[in-house]
Amino acid sequence: MKNSEQKIIDSHLHLDHIHTKHPDRIRWMRERGIIPISWAFAMNIENRESLAAYLRTQADLIHRLNGEGMKCFFLSGIHPRNIPPDLDAEDVKALLSPFLDDPLCLGIGEIGLELGSPREKEIFSAQLAMGEHLREKGKCLGVHTPRENKPKITREILSVLEKYPGLEEITVIDHCMPETIARVLEKGYRAGVTLSPIKASFRDAEEILRRHSEDLNRIMCNTDSGTVFHEDVFRLHCSEDFREVQSSLTFENALQFFRL
Ligand SMILES: [Zn+2]
Repeated sequence: MKNSEQKIIDSHLHLDHIHTKHPDRIRWMRERGIIPISWAFAMNIENRESLAAYLRTQADLIHRLNGEGMKCFFLSGIHPRNIPPDLDAEDVKALLSPFLDDPLCLGIGEIGLELGSPREKEIFSAQLAMGEHLREKGKCLGVHTPRENKPKITREILSVLEKYPGLEEITVIDHCMPETIARVLEKGYRAGVTLSPIKASFRDAEEILRRHSEDLNRIMCNTDSGTVFHEDVFRLHCSEDFREVQSSLTFENALQFFRL
């Protein structure tokens, strides 16, 4: 990373939705040296074709913004809430593979479980089956955990992941909370903490750091901004209370993990 001005990485957000709903925030992030990593999540997916079109549009936007001088990256993947009924698990590889040759694509995400249905597990597994290939390419996996039933679904996510050993180093499990992060870290994964009024608060972050200080270098903060924009990662970066750890949480750990 050459530009010494850039000292913040928002390790999970949705740049396409920010671009549509809050276009002024693109410049806001640029002015503050924030490098966004945009995870795939579409609003309306009816079929396989609309999912493919969405993923293409997301990639194109990231390229356009880079062309305009904004450093940004993306993950391409099938979110558990974006699974079209006509998608076969066998089609997943053909759908995602082309993006993995793109230097601005850092891997597959966001993937995971929302309700934990067999169908979600099938598509999650089909994406994890590409993990070995991702590892060879130096790319990673970005995994979503839901707001509802978080401890239970996080356990189910971890048990699906267990069938794909060897991916710990390239996998981040995101939206961790004080009650779910221990298990994620124990298993050797990176943990994402989403800071916003609807997810983790600064108090949650303090609690996590108090209990897991030895794993500080495996924790990454983000805002998951999209249709709603959150400034919390920037605020944490500026906060006196987190001065000792802010560079790890809002820059260094993501820089290393995503190999930027
Ligand atoms: Zn997200």
